[in-house]
Amino acid sequence: MKIKCLITIAIFLGSMHAYDIDHLEPPFWWIGMDSKELQLMIHGRNISFLQPEIDYEGVEITNVHRTKNNNYLFIDLQIEKLQNGSFDIFFTRLGKVEAEYRYHLHERRPGSKERLGFDAGDVIYLITPDRFANGDKDNDDVSTLKEISNRENKDGRHGGDIQGIIDRLDYLQQMGLTQIWMNPLLENNQATYSYHGYSTTDYYKIDPRFGNNELYKELSKKASDYGIGVIKDVILNHIGSEHWWMKDLPSSDWINNEGRFIQSNHIHESVHDPHMIQSEKDLFTDGWFVKTMPDLNQKNELLATYLIQNSIWWIEFADLSGLRIDTYPYMDKNFLSLWSKRISSEYPYFNFVGEEWSTNPTMVSYWQKGSTRHDDYESHIPSMMDFPLQDAIIKGLLGKESWNSGIGDIFRIMANDFQYGDPYNLVIFAGNHDMTRIYSQLNERMDLYKMAMSIIFTIRGIPQIYYGTEIAMTSSGDHGELRKDFPGGWQNDWVDAFTGNDLTEKEYEAQNFMKKILNWRKRSSAVALGDMVHYPVQDGIYVYFRRHENELLMVAINNTNRTQTVYPDHFIETIKDKTKGINIFNDRVHYLSRDLDVQSKTALILELY
Ligand code: CA
Repeated sequence: MKIKCLITIAIFLGSMHAYDIDHLEPPFWWIGMDSKELQLMIHGRNISFLQPEIDYEGVEITNVHRTKNNNYLFIDLQIEKLQNGSFDIFFTRLGKVEAEYRYHLHERRPGSKERLGFDAGDVIYLITPDRFANGDKDNDDVSTLKEISNRENKDGRHGGDIQGIIDRLDYLQQMGLTQIWMNPLLENNQATYSYHGYSTTDYYKIDPRFGNNELYKELSKKASDYGIGVIKDVILNHIGSEHWWMKDLPSSDWINNEGRFIQSNHIHESVHDPHMIQSEKDLFTDGWFVKTMPDLNQKNELLATYLIQNSIWWIEFADLSGLRIDTYPYMDKNFLSLWSKRISSEYPYFNFVGEEWSTNPTMVSYWQKGSTRHDDYESHIPSMMDFPLQDAIIKGLLGKESWNSGIGDIFRIMANDFQYGDPYNLVIFAGNHDMTRIYSQLNERMDLYKMAMSIIFTIRGIPQIYYGTEIAMTSSGDHGELRKDFPGGWQNDWVDAFTGNDLTEKEYEAQNFMKKILNWRKRSSAVALGDMVHYPVQDGIYVYFRRHENELLMVAINNTNRTQTVYPDHFIETIKDKTKGINIFNDRVHYLSRDLDVQSKTALILELY
């Protein structure tokens, strides 16, 4: 017994002489940030037995945290340094240096703090990077990563990448797009179904099959030369089951349910529901999204700090113009407040948008900064995705015209805007990467498609379209199919939407329509800055105006099966002394002294003078 015990101690001491640093994150930082505090996570064999030391003026260790796992160490730094530079972090034991890391503090780009986020003057293009364009065939398969490409598999990787997007920036600019939001690009080293990017396995590394960190930064730089901003898709709710944490968890409470899979009930209402049993409320936020996505416990302060710093790191590193936050309501509410507050204090004019997939405005508005609420919670997030409007557009356009159905669905959803802190800062969309293609949702009707797009680009909010919407791509509800390859993105693609080669008449018509309205929109202050005033739906016609200074835009949507007449006198309170309107599509002049005919199933958009 005694001998066995001595051997155990000897093995223990022997192992203690080997120390490694496998991860140190954030890998570098910047001087001149709003917060002078920085917390480093260090992961490596037995690292917690070592004492970190820094001898560098302006940088001080204020605290060291250890968890029950000896392979982790967390160091709090206070950075008062005014100039960029580098210093060594020494990890010592009994006065002897056992490991070291050279840490860099970079200079921020001038004006970084004051950067402007995306706004209503923008149009956001959502890209599924694996499915848009393959600009580098050499990175389709990477030996260190599990899943290899297979274009025959609709749920597999098809080889699209960051280079493919860089090569097409001129197309995006010509279309009139001004922001790109890409589904996540961070490493997803999952065995299957890794192309969508929502199973992060490394928070600081672009997936090599998409490129690398430097290429992502280059995309942002080049996009900005084209007047295009980059919005990063951020996942704070969960990681991929192959994340390196899962092999050596920092603490037992890092992942909800102590690292064991328990399925979320996906009942979003449970956050607010006064009747809901507490255990089901907890299950919504603490259950896992799916089995391959371990659910992060943001109540753990070390993890919360890690996630906050990671978001700031990417904004600063890649010079981003926005963030989109995945599965927003699934997280700890207090963490969400803290996270938003930190981002906004570092970047006061920045914009970021959360995903709450509910068609109920009360559910969505709850999260937006400044909204009216049933409790005293404040999440501080400036923007949310407007799922209620998306739903209303589809239902409204497809619905039979009556007192309580048809185009009035859109009017009634707009009437709910009183609930939002800032309805003008909602991101509005007709479709995204999780739903049947909009053209298919609208029964492949070009007239309804054009009406939907006309609404998205003129009503209040920040419009976003999904790649391929501009050529009216079709799909079922199957994820692999609705995220199919963009034609022309692969070498030897005969149909090429970038050049227009062999597009069908329908695709060509859609693309030209989009190009026209998007490029018009770029010049309109009425849609970018104007307020909105609308009139009750009459005879299946919905009329609203956007007003900014002397600019006035009139939109009349006729959802009936016959031409309808609109009488300008009815809108005199808004039109005032304007005498004519110019149709933005064909430059035809309409005199407001005469009645206006609005054709069946069309949106008439007039700039009034
Ligand atoms: Ca590739």
